[in-house]
Amino acid sequence: MELYKENQLKVYNSLSKTKEDFNPITDGYVGMYVCGPTVYSNAHLGNVRTFMFFDVVYRYLLHLGYKVRYVRNITDAGHLENDAEQGEDKIAKKARLEQIEPMEVVQMYTVDFHNVLKNYNFLPPSIEPTATGHIVEQIEMIKEIIERGFAYEVNGSVYFDVHEYNKKENYGILSGRKVEDLIHNTRTLDGQSDKKNPQDFALWKKADDRHIMRWPSPWSDGFPGWHLECSVMSTKYLGEQFDIHGGGMDLKFPHHECEIAQSQTCSGVKPVNYWMHTNMLSLNGQRMAKSTGNYILPNQILTGENTVLPKPFSASVVRFFNMQANYRSILDFSGDALEASEKGHSKLMEAVNFLSKLEVGKTSTFDVQQWKADCYAAMNDDFNTPILISHLFEAVKVINQIREHKASLTAEDLEELKTTINVFVFDVLGLMNEATQDNSEKISGVVELLIKLRKEARENKDWALSDQIRDELVALGIQLKDGKEGTTFSIN
Ligand code: AMP
Ligand code: ZN
Repeated sequence: MELYKENQLKVYNSLSKTKEDFNPITDGYVGMYVCGPTVYSNAHLGNVRTFMFFDVVYRYLLHLGYKVRYVRNITDAGHLENDAEQGEDKIAKKARLEQIEPMEVVQMYTVDFHNVLKNYNFLPPSIEPTATGHIVEQIEMIKEIIERGFAYEVNGSVYFDVHEYNKKENYGILSGRKVEDLIHNTRTLDGQSDKKNPQDFALWKKADDRHIMRWPSPWSDGFPGWHLECSVMSTKYLGEQFDIHGGGMDLKFPHHECEIAQSQTCSGVKPVNYWMHTNMLSLNGQRMAKSTGNYILPNQILTGENTVLPKPFSASVVRFFNMQANYRSILDFSGDALEASEKGHSKLMEAVNFLSKLEVGKTSTFDVQQWKADCYAAMNDDFNTPILISHLFEAVKVINQIREHKASLTAEDLEELKTTINVFVFDVLGLMNEATQDNSEKISGVVELLIKLRKEARENKDWALSDQIRDELVALGIQLKDGKEGTTFSIN
């Protein structure tokens, strides 16, 4: 039986502001959309916190046996400076400043993003669509919104009519904002006079002369509004209604509010059943953000090339640090916090590495079944990773007690403990065992040494020893290959 049938997952839904039972639209299948990065600069660790949390959501859903279609887009057009309605496209601006093509900017930072994800052991999403790859679909959606009477064209730009939408629907359903308040709070920016009401938002913008990222459309040569791509790509790949939509809290308004309005206008149904939002990662008490310069890059943590940390830290330690906090709480990044995480991480991995050496006992002094149920219960409770980690440390304590002969587990319980630890530490949290990585370097060193000894044996015509070294290495799954440049080896 699939694990999800015996694990009732609960998810905090930002829409209802309560924890709800998670029941996907189609039994056994989950559709999940997460707003991806705008690739105009390197993703900072704050961005990575959000994506890492959804990586763990994805991992846990897969572990529970769901078939998951996970869509995380790449925003490569339409996102204007300061997330505003006016101004320059973030990517186009970078291209102008660097004197390169916008698509070079996109390529550079997409590659960097993927490199970070690889270093930090992310699972790739099922689909990673781009905004520029869906211009045609975006134009089609705008046409449909206009036909339905919820958008209007002015001077080549098309705006969503929030006032009209709000007559029957609730613009503000997710963020709790009231349209009336928005009218008073919206700053009048240049060109906003085009709009009927200041809270209307752009679906299509006419490009001015210096705007290089432009596409033909029925209204003008221009580009789509930032919010549109996510409505288009989520509908295209997950359907008019899907299960989970995620992103950082800062995206609730206006981005996700606008997504709901656009999608609901076209389909007539609420697009998303569970909205999930991560809280912010801060640095020096301030939100980590590219715009303020208050950030650290994930790869800078690995190399130690930064002014924030006293030394380099591993990707797994950073993952562990992130997972020690609940995703709905603010998390403050600092050298001290990372050093504390590093200690905890080593303690956990040391215990994990000792698992295979534990002796089997006659009786069990620890209730493994209950502990396992507690681990699942933590994750079933809105992916509560800090509670899961506290349970993992109960297991660490037992492992250490068994080492000291102060506790014991039967063979069956020990097997269950091992399997469960491996599931949660590696499959679900995505942590990496650096000890094994270190060992692989040591193994290479030892094999090189044996190759050297074998060479000496051959020079001394000691064929028996030379063959013994080769054969015993083969028995261990290590093949030696003699070539012109010397002997190399491969490990199966
Ligand atoms: P962006 O590339 O700016 O569109 O952001 C990509 C994702 O990172 C979005 O889901 C943001 O909400 C999220 N994000 C941005 N800053 C932070 C932060 N300091 N902490 C956590 N998530 C963040
Ligand atoms: Zn989005």
